[in-house]
Amino acid sequence: MSNAPQSPTNSLVTAIKAFNDNYIWALANKSNDNIALVDPGDAEVCIEYLQKNDLKLSAILITHHHRDHIGGIKVLLDYAKEHSWTVTVYGPRNENIAHLDVELKENDTVNLAMVDWQFKVFDLPGHTKGHIAYYNDETLFCGDTLFSAGCGRLFEGTPKQMHQSLSKLASLPSNTLVYCAHEYTQANLSFALIVEPSNTELHDYAEKVSLMRQNNESTIPSSIGLERQINPFMRCHEKTIKLAAQQYNKSIQNSDVEVFATIRSWKDNF
Ligand SMILES: [Zn+2]
Repeated sequence: MSNAPQSPTNSLVTAIKAFNDNYIWALANKSNDNIALVDPGDAEVCIEYLQKNDLKLSAILITHHHRDHIGGIKVLLDYAKEHSWTVTVYGPRNENIAHLDVELKENDTVNLAMVDWQFKVFDLPGHTKGHIAYYNDETLFCGDTLFSAGCGRLFEGTPKQMHQSLSKLASLPSNTLVYCAHEYTQANLSFALIVEPSNTELHDYAEKVSLMRQNNESTIPSSIGLERQINPFMRCHEKTIKLAAQQYNKSIQNSDVEVFATIRSWKDNF
């Protein structure tokens, strides 16, 4: 991953809350008032944010085609047009999404000159078939693929694909900040504790998150290093997780993919 683009040290990421538990990420910089938005499912909260902070929209990054990630694109483009802003919309090549200007696939690079951010693109099939993520040396925008202490449901992809996608993310540097699209951490931790009750880091983190959520604090971003310690879906190679999966479904073999498939369906029924 050493050839990953560098992110600017003056970069800023802000969460815009949408719907019940979505985060739309606003990417800013300190040298001008342009921002990019990641997965703007709701235009209204984004426009409110732009107005309140006197910002201009110059790019939209989309991770996958679900409505809560793309629903605001059209209204935001209309709003930008009224203000004579040029907005470039980036998204996955392998999904059917309206209004994309640039269709992306694995290893493509995205250079957002106006907001001084650069990314490399990962294909992450599993949650949907064409899901992508945006990565640079400090940050990962991974939509609904990796959540803190959990992962997205398999709506279109196979367990094998999702396991590979999560393994790709697990191989990133520990300090990579994980900006996922939902605040699901506390519910995910309840399940993780059932799967791996002997994991002391997991217990410590669940206590911390419980306090954060009592104070209405966001638990995102997480980090790749933390997820490797507490996220059962990133730990399918660990003996503790394999044993728990086999206790849940005695008929499985213990390949990492089968263990992943088992705990994913266990979580779906949790
Ligand atoms: Zn989704």
